[in-house]
Amino acid sequence: MNQEELEDWALDLHEPRFRGRQIYKWIYAKNTNSFYEMSDIPRELRIKLDDIAQISIPRVLKQKVSADGTRKFLMELEDKKRIETVLIPQSKDKNTRYTICISSQVGCPIQCEFCATGQTGFQRNLQAFEIVGQVLGSSRELMRRLKSGDYGLITNIVYMGMGEPMLNYDEVLKSIYILNNPKGVNIGQRRMTISTAGEVSGIEKLAQENLQVNLAVSLHAADDKLRSSLMPINNKYSLPQLVAAVESYIKKTNRKVTFEYLLLGEINMRPVDAENLIRLLKSQLVTVNLIPYNKINEAAFSAPGNAKVRMFYDKLVHGGLNVTVRQEHGSDIDAACGQLAAQKSSRF
Ligand code: SF4
Repeated sequence: MNQEELEDWALDLHEPRFRGRQIYKWIYAKNTNSFYEMSDIPRELRIKLDDIAQISIPRVLKQKVSADGTRKFLMELEDKKRIETVLIPQSKDKNTRYTICISSQVGCPIQCEFCATGQTGFQRNLQAFEIVGQVLGSSRELMRRLKSGDYGLITNIVYMGMGEPMLNYDEVLKSIYILNNPKGVNIGQRRMTISTAGEVSGIEKLAQENLQVNLAVSLHAADDKLRSSLMPINNKYSLPQLVAAVESYIKKTNRKVTFEYLLLGEINMRPVDAENLIRLLKSQLVTVNLIPYNKINEAAFSAPGNAKVRMFYDKLVHGGLNVTVRQEHGSDIDAACGQLAAQKSSRF
């Protein structure tokens, strides 16, 4: 529930509206998962609340910690379905803050060839409380592990975990508003990124929202034939449609967009791929983020060597594109891009 819903709920219980605000603060700002801990609420009301409601936060079943400090959580939802959430430290500093990579669906219907999540199939959309709950649950677990009393360890959110956020648009949006509320979790919109495989209808809707969140689009190939073979969504929205949607998004929002480009050795790193990419994006105010592929057992692709990554990068920069190379985190614990697959628990 967002703050307004909690206030309405308080009224339904014949309590003053401010009780809803108090509950909101306890859950979202103080990360409490028990009504009994809400010490400024009368005891009888706390007992009543505990009788009729529950604060539902996904349970951390297992956790893996990478050599670089990245943590991957296997989380269980109320219906026993499982999702993965990843916490990435922003530096090597002892007091570092974290970026959380959260899931928006259980499994994913998009079925990209290179992705472990896509290969587990699609089960259902997450509700907003389950999306927000990943942040609250991970934050609690992190504080416990680090023996920290700091509620603000997580400062950035990327909707890049399991699932396609644009196919669960309303719940994702509701979660953004809740996570952004300064009276609660208080994570700035500019510190949030929605990543889409290219669901054009979602990009068009997002352009109308007047939000400050960042948009990342997974491109992975710059010609329709290759992209369709890697990402079936390209059969629904072709590259010209996708690029046109991003162009109008930028015009409308005046915000930069990042195109993610997974580097699949032997597949999409040929000189012709670089040329296609330059031709496709040169006139746009975008960044291309190159992501060296992480091997998963289910896919037949190979990881590119550093020299090939460098060559591809140089060619794009030479062609006038703004390019970055993503430093991968957590690949030793299968927590890097494309490696999340909670349903196959043997992978965890
Ligand atoms: S890469 Fe993203 S959109 Fe594609 S199958 Fe994996 S989770 Fe779904």
